[in-house]
Amino acid sequence: MKMDAVANLQALIRYQSFTPKNPTTQEKDFAECQGSLDFVEQLLAPLGCRSVKRLAFPGSELAPYPVDNLIVHLAKGESEETLFYSCHTDVVGLVDETLWTVQPFGAEIKDGFIHGRGVTDMKGGIISFIKALYDKLEYMPKYNIYFLVTTDEEWTGANGTIQAFRYLKEQGIVPTWVLVGEPASKEKVGDSVRYGRRGSLSGNLFAKGKSGHVAYPERTINPIAYMVRAQAAIMSIPFESDGLGREGTNLEFTYTNSGNPKDGGTVPQTAEANFNVRFTSNYSVESMCHLINKALDDAGIDRTIVTLTLLPQVASQPFTSKRKRLAECILTAAIEICGVDPDFNRAGGTSDGAKVYRVYDPAENPDYADIEIAEFGSCSSGGGLRNGLPAKTERGGIHEIDERAYLADLELLAEAYGHMLENLFR
Ligand SMILES: [Zn+2]
Repeated sequence: MKMDAVANLQALIRYQSFTPKNPTTQEKDFAECQGSLDFVEQLLAPLGCRSVKRLAFPGSELAPYPVDNLIVHLAKGESEETLFYSCHTDVVGLVDETLWTVQPFGAEIKDGFIHGRGVTDMKGGIISFIKALYDKLEYMPKYNIYFLVTTDEEWTGANGTIQAFRYLKEQGIVPTWVLVGEPASKEKVGDSVRYGRRGSLSGNLFAKGKSGHVAYPERTINPIAYMVRAQAAIMSIPFESDGLGREGTNLEFTYTNSGNPKDGGTVPQTAEANFNVRFTSNYSVESMCHLINKALDDAGIDRTIVTLTLLPQVASQPFTSKRKRLAECILTAAIEICGVDPDFNRAGGTSDGAKVYRVYDPAENPDYADIEIAEFGSCSSGGGLRNGLPAKTERGGIHEIDERAYLADLELLAEAYGHMLENLFR
């Protein structure tokens, strides 16, 4: 079947589908997100969907904003294997709209690139996958594919893919393979494939002191003095390597503030800092929480002044997937279609791949340990390298200003997805 990938991608980009987390723009953002799901649903309809399910959530205490999700089941013949294709149409903010040299939702095509917030992460990849379905499904003897689209990937994800996985699990559906279509490639399509992710845990340190004149320290408790000792204790935790790869455990402070003006002569009342740790399978969310608490206690940090808040409810566990048929089919497609030998790694941020692990927990049913998860998609840099364009520009990549994708790369990705699908459901 024929489909105009460029025109459909332009239409999808034009939905201003920010994750509806911002109370002041929530109604509009939610409507745009729903519009993007309606669009994908309509685009898939001619393929002959076996079922279509919309899963909307009003929001919870943890994620106080409405989210809509879409699950489309495409199937033909009897297939013992099930593929979940997991993607999202929500996009991150514009950072500073005045710095954009193109309309952020204009879908403008220039020098072979298509521009727009979310085109690389990940509307371009979605259209490539749908193009592959249009190109291949009618010639395949059998297939069994659940197409999952969420509009809550870029924020907490609490009402997104995880809810869709839960819903499918309740229906007794277990994936054989989970393909997360995130832009896992770097400069060339297929140069990087992910088969796991590090875990992620965020935390906050809050020190409550007593403000006063800097010249009278005996009348003050400086929260910064406590804060820097607490930060140093956490930063000096000796993390172990899991020996599996170069993506080790790493902790970064992301914010620190006392609320004081820079030129003040006043000891502040409070100080605050945020941090995030990415960790290998040597650790779990629980053991990481324990380690951070222990580091503060070992350093003798006064916990009546310094409060540690960890957010395990929005943390993600590390996972390493088995590498079997899905990995093999991606490898073959990358070599034969894209002409690159992919690097299989577990780098990058958190992903919906980790959520499969939360829902289909091997501790609950050992069979779940056989579920294979891989991330294979467009270029996080915006691509174009294979056509002799500069490898790095200061803009145009994932979450960057002037986000863009090289159209020829998206075409190649569609071909690679098609090759992979044919091989998976032989
Ligand atoms: Zn994404």
